[in-house]
Amino acid sequence: MSLRLYDTKTRSVRGFEPLDPPKVTVYLCGDTVYAPPHIGHARSKVIFDVLWRWLERSGHDVVFARNITDVDDKIFVRAAEEGVPWWQVGQRVIHQMERAYDVLGLRPPTVEPLVTGHITQMIELIQQLIDRGHAYASGGDVYFDVRSLSEYGALSGQQPDQMVKTEKTDPDRPKRDPLDFALWKGSRPGEPSWPAPWGPGRPGWHLGCSAMATTYLGPTFDIHGGGTDIVFPHHENELAQSRGVGDRFARYWLHNGLLNLGAQKMSKSIGNTLLITELVKRWRPVELRYYLVAPHYRSTVEYAEEALDKAAAAYRRIEGFVTRAVEVAGAVPAASDVPAAFRDAMDDDLGTPQALAVVHAAVREGNAALAAGDKEAIDRLLGELRAMLDVLGLDPLAEPWAEQAGAGDGCCDALGKLVDVTLEQRRLARARKDYATADALRDGLAAAGVVVEDTPNGPRWSLGR
Ligand code: ZN
Repeated sequence: MSLRLYDTKTRSVRGFEPLDPPKVTVYLCGDTVYAPPHIGHARSKVIFDVLWRWLERSGHDVVFARNITDVDDKIFVRAAEEGVPWWQVGQRVIHQMERAYDVLGLRPPTVEPLVTGHITQMIELIQQLIDRGHAYASGGDVYFDVRSLSEYGALSGQQPDQMVKTEKTDPDRPKRDPLDFALWKGSRPGEPSWPAPWGPGRPGWHLGCSAMATTYLGPTFDIHGGGTDIVFPHHENELAQSRGVGDRFARYWLHNGLLNLGAQKMSKSIGNTLLITELVKRWRPVELRYYLVAPHYRSTVEYAEEALDKAAAAYRRIEGFVTRAVEVAGAVPAASDVPAAFRDAMDDDLGTPQALAVVHAAVREGNAALAAGDKEAIDRLLGELRAMLDVLGLDPLAEPWAEQAGAGDGCCDALGKLVDVTLEQRRLARARKDYATADALRDGLAAAGVVVEDTPNGPRWSLGR
């Protein structure tokens, strides 16, 4: 079996054949930078990071583009609230976003284009659409003429007459049809603008992605991704713009289900607790990543702290085996291939729940091998586990998790030595039957977030919550 993916446009699971193997080109709609990312933003990023790793493990060379929308109404509103220039909000949030995604072990995209860096390409695209009769200027704006493209609606599977009108009509800038969407927004007071043949202004949101995707990946590319919330109108409109100039555009459309933040998102103050920077104070980044990888990517997930706790516990079972196995077998490198059952699960539309079931079966087998002292089995299982966990970005012995666990970091080295000194004091206290001191040392470590577990091989410690 080889990779099959659910394609939104054909509404079917299709065998994946790249346009130009072994190269695979992927475009993922990135964030609008008006506020730092919360866990809902991170879900899509982690899912497509796993897709990237799986494509690579399957022998492909991936070119991964993820844009940054740095011109948008939400950014202007935020800047006005803060009394700072619009670009200052965007730049700040870009840095916050990059840090947050680094923390979750996301690979930096091959290319991360900004809207502001591609205005020239966007103006060219609009001009081509006007020349081909798919767009028209009106009062300084330029609109896409939805009725001029017979296939409009093909991606989201809707007829234009049934569509929800998502943009208001300005009487000074009349549209031919209420569904027509802005390619160019004529300059308005307090907003940035760039010169253009039909008057100064700025690009519409949908236009940016068409221009940036084709700039880096060409007129036809393999996979276009995003959340189900942007199938319509965003992706429908991207497709219309690119089809309007004769481009094939994406060959497969992948959409991840949403992480529903429910009531939590309603309140702004509670909403802040769902920022990546806040969540990593309560769960380790690798545990957050496990939580995001575990459900199937097309499922809708209701945010719940209990589920995060369960994910953390599940990850610790994996990590527990890996730690013990390394003590017995050393840091066995990842196996050159993953077990067939894991491969089948991932090839079946990225079936991460089934893939993780294979991982946990290996952990159970590994624990049995540890109990039996079967070093050969421990070696094999550790290598297989590392190969599987690498695909999911969850290998405790690989970057960035190995680093976060203490290897090579001066601060963590010092912490490790301090913990070792404290544990030695505790051992001596116990040896002289001074249990009050021994317990006080252990409680002191616990208060500092160091969890001590007594094992037949002596105490083992880890950084808990
Ligand atoms: Zn987009």
